[in-house]
Amino acid sequence: ILMLIFITGSYAQSKKHLDKSKSIEERISLLINEMTLDEKVGQMNQYNGSWDFTGPLPESGSEEEKYEHIKKGWVGSMLSVRGTKKVRAVQKIAVEESRLGIPIIFGFDVIHGYKTLSPIPLAEAASWDLEAIKMSASVAADEASASGLNWTFGPNVDISNDARWGRVMEGAGEDTYLGTKIARARVTGFQGENLDANNTIASCAKHFAGYGFAEAGLEYNSVEMSHSKLYNVVLPTFKAAVDAGVRTFMNSFNTLNGIPATGDYFLQRDILKGDWGFDGYVVSDWASIREMIVHGFAADGADASAKAVKAGSDMDMESHLYVKELVDLVENGTVEERLIDDAVRRILRVKFELGLFDDPYRYCNEEREKATIGNQAINSAVLDMAKKSIVLLKNEGDLLPLKKSGQKIALIGALAADKNSPLGSWRIAADDNTAVSVLEGMKQYKNNKLIYEKGTDVSIGKQSFVEEVKINTDDFSGFEAAEKVAKGADVVVMVLGEVGFQSGEARSRTELGLPGNQQQLLEAIYKVNKNIVLVLNNGRPLALPWAAEHIPAIVEAWQLGTQTGNAVAQVLYGDYNPSGKLPMSFPRNVGQCPIYYNHLNTGRPANTQDNVFWSHYIDVEKTPLFPFGYGLSYTTFKYKNLKLEKSKYKKGDVVKLSVEVSNTGNLDGKEVVQLYINDPVASIVRPVKQLKGFELIKLKKGETKTVKFTLTDAELGFFNNKGEYLVESGIFNIMVGGQSDKGLKDKFELE
Ligand code: BGC
Repeated sequence: ILMLIFITGSYAQSKKHLDKSKSIEERISLLINEMTLDEKVGQMNQYNGSWDFTGPLPESGSEEEKYEHIKKGWVGSMLSVRGTKKVRAVQKIAVEESRLGIPIIFGFDVIHGYKTLSPIPLAEAASWDLEAIKMSASVAADEASASGLNWTFGPNVDISNDARWGRVMEGAGEDTYLGTKIARARVTGFQGENLDANNTIASCAKHFAGYGFAEAGLEYNSVEMSHSKLYNVVLPTFKAAVDAGVRTFMNSFNTLNGIPATGDYFLQRDILKGDWGFDGYVVSDWASIREMIVHGFAADGADASAKAVKAGSDMDMESHLYVKELVDLVENGTVEERLIDDAVRRILRVKFELGLFDDPYRYCNEEREKATIGNQAINSAVLDMAKKSIVLLKNEGDLLPLKKSGQKIALIGALAADKNSPLGSWRIAADDNTAVSVLEGMKQYKNNKLIYEKGTDVSIGKQSFVEEVKINTDDFSGFEAAEKVAKGADVVVMVLGEVGFQSGEARSRTELGLPGNQQQLLEAIYKVNKNIVLVLNNGRPLALPWAAEHIPAIVEAWQLGTQTGNAVAQVLYGDYNPSGKLPMSFPRNVGQCPIYYNHLNTGRPANTQDNVFWSHYIDVEKTPLFPFGYGLSYTTFKYKNLKLEKSKYKKGDVVKLSVEVSNTGNLDGKEVVQLYINDPVASIVRPVKQLKGFELIKLKKGETKTVKFTLTDAELGFFNNKGEYLVESGIFNIMVGGQSDKGLKDKFELE
């Protein structure tokens, strides 16, 4: 009889949870009632797939073992399985061959596009254009979902002010306020109005929390910070993601004040699931449950699993520990089954919301896949985003925009012809060499003579996500040819910077200059022709004091994705007027890191030369090379008439202010109008300045617009070390301008 029950098990279960007329919560309860402990734990297990896009499913080895586990109901999610064919094949095993047929949720790192790439997230942040950023996430979701995926491990909402850390390329920069707005834009872009549409995907706020403050910018390093800083600087972007409806969270590799984030009860249970009422699920970072053993926080796999699940990590990404340990841990009383039920409920909730129970193959439409991947609409959205991400850092003389005819242009630098580096890091699904290069983009302007010389290589050999990048330092053989073409040119455009995999995960740097011998190349070319436009390609702020002083025109073009060359060419030729502003401060040298605009005052603020005991460096100015919020346009803007509606307010009031901005140059343009506040006396010292409002406006030449801002308790207060939000009375200084270090000033009193 037992045998009979076993054999007919898969038919015997009731399938009541498939009844669409019931609420999701009811359906989850019905399903959980049917599940064995093994099957519950299975939902909490995520395996890496990485199956080749076109090949057949492997039949032996560890992948085979994973299929066997899927059949047993031991797998709730797969990561990196992609393409409708593969996803369908794997989903079929779960749905048709496991006892309860619970569909798998397929996750993937859709970080800046899927197969068609938009700019790296840091570059997108430089646009300050929330609509465009949302659109970029939305087209990425369209493309990824067409390829069978239904969950992205993004957005990365880690605030970081340390350019040494390679993962700054994935975030929105150093500022928490800007970061919260961008977090919302990205979450709503990925998830759309409705998760139950087959062209949207569930998103994931990561890495919870503090990862961006790894000591010395060293990847995976420990993080120590006060609770006040945690609450004021790190947590708000995560909270914004929750408020925007993000369905999942990923925790992080680092320890925070001595506790690995993966095992941090305070972060995941007290704050996220408690205070914020988050009802989605938390996935661990890759093997981060197992890493708690190496950290010295857990004795072995069982201990790590118990600590992680108790702390609120619902799904195990690739530690292979939950699936191995949790059943025993429940049976021997170490872990309460209600914790398992809670995790499973959260995971199933998202699966129901995605509509996976109603149609597990809804993302597996090959026709749609063909029609969507790389289509025109996606390419024009990423081109639009790429142009908006470019920041004009310097434009002296009249080199830019370039004249469209009669010019002899020398294009120099290996990155100018590189079709790979502009794709940046985190582009697992994209084929190599699929970016439009700057050379290709510039060739389209046919009435100039364009001569290309690479000058020098940046890297040697093949690079990839998992291989170290080898930088060329000793081959100078291309210099002479480059100098020759530069000599005879009207304008030299030099494309220099980092190769694509010099930033991203595990790509910390201790030098922030141009890698290899590019600085020497720049100086050599400058000797023969000073009319240089320097186009930077990089995944982090670089420290380029020599270039900032000598080179007349500098364009920050980051890594702009598939449409890089088209975007750069349109900006260089003035078919697009740049309006980007830096989302991170650019240092003068690496020794200044971390350098950020919203620091605290020391007790030695006076900048006086006759007193050496002020807070400074004896070898370099303490200001950044280019400040946060900075960026030029081909036109000019003037700010006037900053007006506060009143000079005194009560707590709870809405502070209203306005400013007039005029386009005083000769071209139509866009400007990011920025509002900063400062609370000069507080019970916890407040930053010298904090962004608390911004608006991207379009101004025709000669046009003036009045921009209005409001400030409420939500902007004026701060968190103390207990995590309590305080709004304190007193004077508030305000500043409005086009960058963080300059603007019109006023103040008001809060009674
Ligand atoms: C990264 C995550 C990523 C995961 C899956 C980890 O190494 O830290 O950000 O989502 O891998 O690829």
